[in-house]
Amino acid sequence: MDRVVIVGAGFAGLAAARRLVGAPAAVEVVDQHNFHTFQPLLYQVATAGLDPSDVVYPIRTILRRAPNVRFVHGRVSVLDVAHRAVVLEGGRTLTYDHLVVASGATAAVFGVPGVRDHGLFLYTLDDAHWVRNHVLAALERADVAAQGDGDAAAIAVVGGGPTGVETAGAMTELLDIAVRHDRIRLDPRRTRVVLVDARERLLPGFSPAASSYAERTLRSRGVEVRLASLFHGIHAAEVPEDAKVAFP
Ligand SMILES: Cc1cc2nc3c(=O)[nH]c(=O)nc-3n(C[C@H](O)[C@H](O)[C@H](O)COP(=O)(O)OP(=O)(O)OC[C@H]3O[C@@H](n4cnc5c(N)ncnc54)[C@H](O)[C@@H]3O)c2cc1C
Repeated sequence: MDRVVIVGAGFAGLAAARRLVGAPAAVEVVDQHNFHTFQPLLYQVATAGLDPSDVVYPIRTILRRAPNVRFVHGRVSVLDVAHRAVVLEGGRTLTYDHLVVASGATAAVFGVPGVRDHGLFLYTLDDAHWVRNHVLAALERADVAAQGDGDAAAIAVVGGGPTGVETAGAMTELLDIAVRHDRIRLDPRRTRVVLVDARERLLPGFSPAASSYAERTLRSRGVEVRLASLFHGIHAAEVPEDAKVAFP
């Protein structure tokens, strides 16, 4: 019986495993996490609209009815193609006849200075958790620092694709809830969510009508949309603790 190793239990890895259920093959799905992450809703975790547990699902439960598919929890450190082996951190080795690499993508910083050091990313559950904690802690600091009517808050979201659009919209909702329901002392006149993109329109993969609709809706909710604006970098001196940049 052929041995198949699938690295990654994201949409791609799980789709491959699903196609192999019942095939004459012994399949091993390896992932560094024992849960699958539903990335499309990470922005909701990052903006405190959903709990982390709402966007993950145990891989073992997904594969429960697949007798020839086994889950292996571990982080792949080496793909030894010459010996048809996958080496996990700690030294454990899985050998294969066929290898599927479905380990996903990482955020591109396009060589923009400072993004790697000062930006907040949104690719994994840990990233989403980090953004959420960072923003909520910044709001609490703003409340403590507030003089008179309230302190200022600024959130910049770079990238006007679907995730940037969703994140910017949800950030305005989060600020609204923080001020109106949770009584965080922020001055609405000095509270900004800025969405920046180098291109001429938001959502370039969608129709122009969808782009205009998204732009109008965001502007009506108070998001400053800056198009055709090239983002040159983030410099430590310009990044107050509570105004770092999310880079979806
Ligand atoms: C914030 C966000 C929002 C999105 N929204 C949408 C949307 O609305 N609609 C849409 O169609 N698409 C959306 N996408 C894109 C979609 O989620 C991805 O295209 C899809 O998840 C990619 O699937 P994948 O299996 O290739 O990779 P991933 O889902 O990234 O899975 C890769 C898996 O490999 C594992 N892995 C990586 N390295 C190792 C290693 N060394 N050892 C062991 N395991 C490893 C990871 O833990 C992970 O489980 C979004 C993506 C993001 C980040």
